[in-house]
Amino acid sequence: MKTIVAATKNKHKIVEIEAITSQFGMNIVPRDEAGVPDIEIPETGKTFEENSYIKAHEIMKLSGQITIADDSGLVVDCIEGAPGVYSARFATFPGIWPDEKDEDEADSDDRDNNSKLIRLIKDVPYEQRTAHFVSVITMVFPDGETLVARGEVHGHLVLEERGKGGFGYDPLFVPLGYDRTFGELPAELKNSISHRANALVSLKEKLEKLNID
Ligand code: IMP
Repeated sequence: MKTIVAATKNKHKIVEIEAITSQFGMNIVPRDEAGVPDIEIPETGKTFEENSYIKAHEIMKLSGQITIADDSGLVVDCIEGAPGVYSARFATFPGIWPDEKDEDEADSDDRDNNSKLIRLIKDVPYEQRTAHFVSVITMVFPDGETLVARGEVHGHLVLEERGKGGFGYDPLFVPLGYDRTFGELPAELKNSISHRANALVSLKEKLEKLNID
């Protein structure tokens, strides 16, 4: 089994990535277990692709091993696509998008992010409360070879948190074709249709084409 370092420290993401990559014969090791020092990597990119690459590349340089990074977030149509790449720290700034002065804020609490989102979309009818999650997964090899895979899942937002499963915006997100939120649906179901699952399936196809396994 191939060992791959995960650039993320987010335990929820690691559990989800592992649930999917284990089916592809990949063994994911969290960065702290791979001897990578506990440094913050500033996510200075304006796109999921840029941030995903920054994280994978920095951790690959520190670990010397194949590294996988996920940059993800929620894109909400009725608020200009926010919070997008700023999903993890949405509640730390007052507007839809951060100003320069908000740049160095740490991540905010999921509860606070969800409350802010509800406040912004509460007057929008359900049909127009469309949103999608995006996950961009980047795999960087020690020789510099880089694979990038994007996955999305589309749905609608509800105005009260429903369910205790998942993390982040899951209690507000109802995927198309379902009437329960990601917070209410079983983890196995989320892990089979999520943005992260779609990105990992696409990554697997790219790995197969490259003949790296
Ligand atoms: P990142 O660590 O910069 O990629 O931030 C990702 C943020 O997007 C998380 O903190 C969550 O707020 C949100 N997010 C990403 N993926 C999911 C998911 O699967 N469910 C719910 N929220 C998610």
